[in-house]
Amino acid sequence: MSETQPTRTRPQPNTAPREGASPSTEVITPRLLRLELHGYKSFANRTEFVFPTGITAIVGPNGSGKSNIADALRWVLGEQSYTLLRGKRTEDMIFSGSEQRPRMGMASVSVTFDNRDGWLPVDYATVALTRRAYRSGENEYFLNGTRVRLRDIQDLLAASGLLKRSYAIIGQGLVDQALSLRPEERRVLIEEAAGITAYQRKRDQALTRLAEVEANLVRVQDIVAEIAPRLKRLRQQVEKVQQHRLLEEELRRLLLTWYGYRWHQAVADLEKARTAREAHEAALAEQRQALQALEQRLQAVEEEQERLRAANEARHRHIAALHREAETLLREEAVIVE
Ligand code: ATP
Repeated sequence: MSETQPTRTRPQPNTAPREGASPSTEVITPRLLRLELHGYKSFANRTEFVFPTGITAIVGPNGSGKSNIADALRWVLGEQSYTLLRGKRTEDMIFSGSEQRPRMGMASVSVTFDNRDGWLPVDYATVALTRRAYRSGENEYFLNGTRVRLRDIQDLLAASGLLKRSYAIIGQGLVDQALSLRPEERRVLIEEAAGITAYQRKRDQALTRLAEVEANLVRVQDIVAEIAPRLKRLRQQVEKVQQHRLLEEELRRLLLTWYGYRWHQAVADLEKARTAREAHEAALAEQRQALQALEQRLQAVEEEQERLRAANEARHRHIAALHREAETLLREEAVIVE
């Protein structure tokens, strides 16, 4: 196939959100809208393929690049097997030059899908996926112009089932292969093409989940059977706990009343004690004054006593002197008488 000239402008992805999409009411339109190649394998010039309703046939002599278009489609959808892409490495995907023009540094492929019926789980009516590769081996992916990871593209396509459908891209020889399949193998292919496989897979998943739920139910029943005998005892314990709580509350209330009463009583007692102390203090002051007066009197009496004792001693001494004088006089009298 000869390369078409880049006469078309690059398609701008419609990034408006889907509105009122309903697969049942939509007119059936092709989901693959456009494929744009630039620098991919033999497509050095920017080349755009538009896929209108119906079948699009690309015709060309051998080696003109028809299969490269299918490769481009696989490639932009994130294909990682270079064998499937009829190459060995990333560089083989980039235009390697011809007699007329030098090799290119980058290959870019964009595919645009109609997503008004929401077959791809993103909120865009049109979805444009782009893959770019450089001679360094680096690959970049874009979703409606926004850089994303390969993983995001794979997740998106996996969610739509596109990646899993082996018939999505039928390479050379696959038609012969399909016709030579055994009836049961062909049935799988036809079922897949008819879209039954997705439902069968969903049914299988639902059945697996149902089996899991049933197994869980049995486990739950086992647990219930195991717990049932303990339930009576647990109920009694719960009742006891509730009773305990009620009693605790009652006790708290009673203690509050009791301590309140005791507190008021203690305050009254304290007041009484204070009054008594004041009275005692007054009495004590009086007693102290009386004591002081008595002490003063005692001191005066002691002083008087001391004075009298001294006077008494002086009198005794005087009497003794008189006695001695009397004796002397008596002896002198006796002498005189004699
Ligand atoms: P056939 O019908 O024989 O299978 P075809 O039309 O499908 O042929 P393709 O196999 O798609 O053709 O294209 C092969 C052509 O692409 C070859 O001429 C090859 O040189 C060219 N080609 C492949 N890779 C590159 C590349 N990286 N750079 C330049 N040209 C390339």
